[in-house]
Amino acid sequence: MADELLKDWEKLKLTVEEDVVFGRDFEDVEDAGSRDQISLILVGKMLTRRPFNFEAMKRTLTQIWRLQEHVVIRMIEMNLFVFQFFCEADKDRVLEGCPWSFDNQILCLKETDGRKRNSSFAYDIGESLGGFLDFDNTDSFGWDEFMRIKVLCDIEKPLRRGVKLATGPETEIWLDIKYERLGDLCYFYGKLGHTDRDCQSQVKATESENDVVYQYGPWLVASPHRHPKMSITDKEKEKKWVDNFR
Ligand SMILES: [Zn+2]
Repeated sequence: MADELLKDWEKLKLTVEEDVVFGRDFEDVEDAGSRDQISLILVGKMLTRRPFNFEAMKRTLTQIWRLQEHVVIRMIEMNLFVFQFFCEADKDRVLEGCPWSFDNQILCLKETDGRKRNSSFAYDIGESLGGFLDFDNTDSFGWDEFMRIKVLCDIEKPLRRGVKLATGPETEIWLDIKYERLGDLCYFYGKLGHTDRDCQSQVKATESENDVVYQYGPWLVASPHRHPKMSITDKEKEKKWVDNFR
């Protein structure tokens, strides 16, 4: 049973709504502030598989860099970091001084040309899902794994499992949607209000087909939202720095 409930990409049949590619005109809505912010980002990777102390790394680097402005350093995933600088001179100096090392390990740094999620992006996605209500803007840099939005949902329809997002004129990526505090969900039809065990439609379908393919599963459920460990004053301080980009 557990295996059947894992997401099987090969067997996932997208609904018409899920198949719509979204954001081909995304570039137009991107504001100058976000572009400036991204131009002052370096992405870093530590060339080691050994665990190391991230907090100590942050302290050491900030000390040896002696920057004019602040720098915000976040770990995006194991061993992958974002360094947000706030002036060109700081970023250039760090880049020119490469390679840096910490604890005898090499830190690779690279510029990025990514895009930033913003409120208008959140709004467009929310509207396409059924209606935008609210957007969690506590993630001021837009680096969290997920963007958190509150939307209206048609409970008569299957839940949307993701959004196709354009990354260029011809290319696109699939973004997973996860839902907080989902109640009973039918893994067969993706509808709320009953589980697949008491799904009447599934009974009919299994009579005609032997192989039941679950199109939905527990992977749609988001783990409870945790507030970042950072203190409120630090959060506010960072928010102010980011606001200067606008
Ligand atoms: Zn059902």
